[in-house]
Parts: sequence; structure tokens; C-alpha cells
Amino acid sequence: MNDAIYPGSFDPMTLGHFDVIKRASKMFDSLTVSVLDNKAKNALFSVEERVNILREATKDLPNVTVDSFSGLLVDYAREKNIHISVRGLRAITDFEYELQIAQTNRLLSKGMLDTVFLTTSLEYAYLSSSGVKEMASFGGDISPCVPDFVAKLVYEKYKNI
Ligand code: ADP
Repeated sequence: MNDAIYPGSFDPMTLGHFDVIKRASKMFDSLTVSVLDNKAKNALFSVEERVNILREATKDLPNVTVDSFSGLLVDYAREKNIHISVRGLRAITDFEYELQIAQTNRLLSKGMLDTVFLTTSLEYAYLSSSGVKEMASFGGDISPCVPDFVAKLVYEKYKNI
């Protein structure tokens, strides 16, 4: 089987992430989108909320499942017996960071986990979860950046902060 993992923070999932998910789901037999439970990052949404958002967004993509993990991606991938990690590249600024992660994962996994990069669709090249949160925190319109149901959830968060 040709299975892949798309790991990330997804805080929250943007249309840029969703575009990568849709395209990767066509390339692999199965795609596991997995939310990294990174205690070091101060997240707006809990891991459970981020998983629920991804599940709702991907409900019509039959070969996509949503999960979460903590710790090293290589350990998680080994447990799941998956050998490909999918990551998105927006601009040259993503490249150095992503290259480092990809090479570290290959080293740590002794060549068992490789990374496939999908370049962003141009209309989403500017999109990031942190940008969406910043815009929403100042009452900006995030409807071009996330699905409508996600925009509602983001605005609700900032109402309560
Ligand atoms: P991180 O895992 O670094 O916290 P994210 O959860 O925001 O980052 O993103 C997960 C992956 O999706 C990363 O590879 C990131 O480069 C990619 N990504 C984020 N936004 C976009 C976008 N607009 N277009 C394509 N890829 C993206």
C-alpha cells in the first residue's frame, strides 16, 4: 500500500492545508492527516478541536483519516507502518526549515521515512494559520482563508479571549 501522513499543527486548518490534503489524497492510497500535539506551541484550538475541524472538512474524502500524535514523527510513522510524510511549501522561507525537518526525519528513521513536498497553489501562497489568527484577532475578514465553519469557530475564540 502507498500510504502517507500529512503532519502539522493545523491551528486551525486553512484552505492552503485543505488544498494540499485534496491533492495528496489523489496521489496516495490513503492519507492520514495528523495533528501534532506540541505542548511548546501556544495553540488557539485544542488538539481535539483541530482534529474535529479536519474531520468535518475531509468528510467527503474517503481515503483521508484524521488522527493526532505527540513526540517524534518518525516513531509515530513507524507505529503506523507509513513511510511517506507530506509537507507543503509556500515560499523560499519555508524551504530551509522543511529541508531540515525532512533530512532529520530521514536520518532518525534510518531511511524509512521520506518526505514528499507539494508546492502551494498560487492563490494560497500567502496563507498561514498564524496570519489567519492575527487577522481574526483584529476583526479582519478571514473568509477567503478558511472554510466558513472554521471562520465561525475562530471568531468565537476571539470573542471569549
Ligand atoms: P507546522 O507544522 O510548521 O506548525 P502548519 O500546521 O501550519 O505548520 O502546516 C503544516 C504543513 O502545511 C507545513 O508543511 C506547511 O508548510 C504547509 N502549509 C501551511 N500553509 C500552507 C499553504 N497555504 N499552502 C501550502 N502548504 C501550506
